[in-house]
Amino acid sequence: MKTVILFSGGLDSILAARIVSVCHPEAEALYFYNVFIPSSCREVIKEISLYTEKLNIPLKVFDISGEVVDLVKVPKYGHGVNLNPCIDCKILMFKKAGEYMENIKAKFIVSGDVLGERPMSQRKDIFNLIEKETGLTGLILRPLSAKLLKVTIPEEKGWIKRENLYAISGRSRKEQIGLAKEFGIDPYPAPAGGCLLTDPGFCRRLKDLLDFQPDFDKEEVSLLKIGRHFRISSLAKLIVPRNEKEEKELMAKRSTNFLEFIPSGIKGRFSLGVGNFGEEEIKTAVEIAAFYTQKDVEEKTIKVVRAREEKIIVAKPLSGEELKRYRI
Ligand code: SF4
Repeated sequence: MKTVILFSGGLDSILAARIVSVCHPEAEALYFYNVFIPSSCREVIKEISLYTEKLNIPLKVFDISGEVVDLVKVPKYGHGVNLNPCIDCKILMFKKAGEYMENIKAKFIVSGDVLGERPMSQRKDIFNLIEKETGLTGLILRPLSAKLLKVTIPEEKGWIKRENLYAISGRSRKEQIGLAKEFGIDPYPAPAGGCLLTDPGFCRRLKDLLDFQPDFDKEEVSLLKIGRHFRISSLAKLIVPRNEKEEKELMAKRSTNFLEFIPSGIKGRFSLGVGNFGEEEIKTAVEIAAFYTQKDVEEKTIKVVRAREEKIIVAKPLSGEELKRYRI
């Protein structure tokens, strides 16, 4: 019998997959990537396929970045403590898993949800709401907390025995760690660094985007993951990398839509200007970029590249205090 597992790659979903795949070896794992995950989709697949391969379960990956970006802007069920629209996001993933289940003629969906582990999305009322919104009533099995929840269709039909399921709840991972040992899952992943929508620093930059550029898309979100951000005007922003890796990532984003600020004859890193820059904005951006160059030079030379035009500007850097006014 085919089943579909919502697989995040965290310990809970690995355990849920292990519990169900023992009696349903035709299980398939679905991973839903979105741009708010810190790593690239390729990196995530590499990491989580270590576990699906060990469990001998095929992994299917879907990129739902565009849809999650739309949910962040107007979430029907609101944001969590930060800008995380977890309830809407879960509904989206379960809806997609439900469609996939129908396509491959699978019988039910498995999720690693643990009752009470996350205050916004892992509550009984929210589990019920998700079932109602997705039309999957009775078809979502949560093996780790099943004994604390109402009986599902797979249990009623005898496709899986309730006595083989668990009654785990709460935020402690003690029981899950015990199960991982029992199942020989070693090493198991550390608690996920998770979704950037729950990270206050990232959400500050995202809120700035929501305020100043509400029609943003996933490409603009991907820029928020790199470097220090400075709001220069309602239309202009500067991104300064923190290290060589970020500088490379930022350079890979170069296009004629952006301005480039390149230290000339001094040590420093490439910075990227995003938005519409007039002379005043360019002057401020240069002064900020200059702050992050070689300290023992008083006047800094910065090359500014816009489309194919180049301009050399010599400027004094802003002070640390002045800089704070612009930092997002
Ligand atoms: S933490 Fe992020 S990916 Fe997970 S449900 Fe919430 S919004 Fe979606």
